[in-house]
Amino acid sequence: MTMRTVYVNGEYLPENEAKVSIFDRGFLMADGVYEVTSVLDGKLIDFEGHAVRLQRSLDELDMASPIAKDDLLEVHRELVRLNGVNEGMIYLQITRGAPADRDFAFPDPETTASTIVLFTQNKPGLADNPAAKKGMKVISIDDIRWGRRDIKTVQLLYPSMGKMMAKKAGVDDAWMVQDGFVTEGTSNNAYIVKGNKIITREASPDILKGITRTAVLRFAREAQMEVEERNFTIEEARGADEAFITSASTFVMPVVEIDGVALGDGTPGRVAPRLREIYLEESLKTAV
Ligand code: PMP
Repeated sequence: MTMRTVYVNGEYLPENEAKVSIFDRGFLMADGVYEVTSVLDGKLIDFEGHAVRLQRSLDELDMASPIAKDDLLEVHRELVRLNGVNEGMIYLQITRGAPADRDFAFPDPETTASTIVLFTQNKPGLADNPAAKKGMKVISIDDIRWGRRDIKTVQLLYPSMGKMMAKKAGVDDAWMVQDGFVTEGTSNNAYIVKGNKIITREASPDILKGITRTAVLRFAREAQMEVEERNFTIEEARGADEAFITSASTFVMPVVEIDGVALGDGTPGRVAPRLREIYLEESLKTAV
């Protein structure tokens, strides 16, 4: 990969010159939050939604924001420009900064500034992803994450382990299950389709309320599809007509197999591909 220009604490630097302290609480304690915003046609998709959720994550953790929203948009745009990104993602992370030593108690925000880092990920062909034509396979695993999954923190060890369990099982991802009900995918929201009805778990501290989820549910309702926000089991999912996931980097992606059981005829159905089309078309209209 060619050398990227990244952003760290107010400076644009070549990626190999950007540095963060070993005392940074993101590194020592996973005391940080993040956002991933996709870029299509050189423009930011759903920037407003990501900026609002970022502020909420910061507020829930009593973490100071090191940047105003307008400036954040400018940094995103500048990185897209400097790195010539046409299709891809921008990763943003804010941590509680680097106090002078390791201590469980939060440092005083007056003396320890938050750390902010942004970098681009160039992904040509993101919208035309061939995986969307084939659909993906998932396994189910226990959801043993902490109880505040509505905050987008960088504690991603269990989701990483879930991805590795999926890889080992020869599939693409894992759906997590808590008390018998599906919560979400390792890095995406989970849905099933029965007839013309789209079913997904309701927003709560059990899941991350996806920015893509909010948009897709709105577009689905506008297209006269029925949406039911409720719990569902893996058994119900295996008997569904279709299933799919949503996230900022995959948009809408059909799921064609759960725990070795093919859904329908094992190919993407009618609803998920249609929602993908609608999402890509509509979200570009408000891209900035
Ligand atoms: N759930 C989890 C656990 C995630 O990590 C993500 C993506 N980061 C999502 C859902 C989807 O959220 P979004 O649509 O905002 O990318």
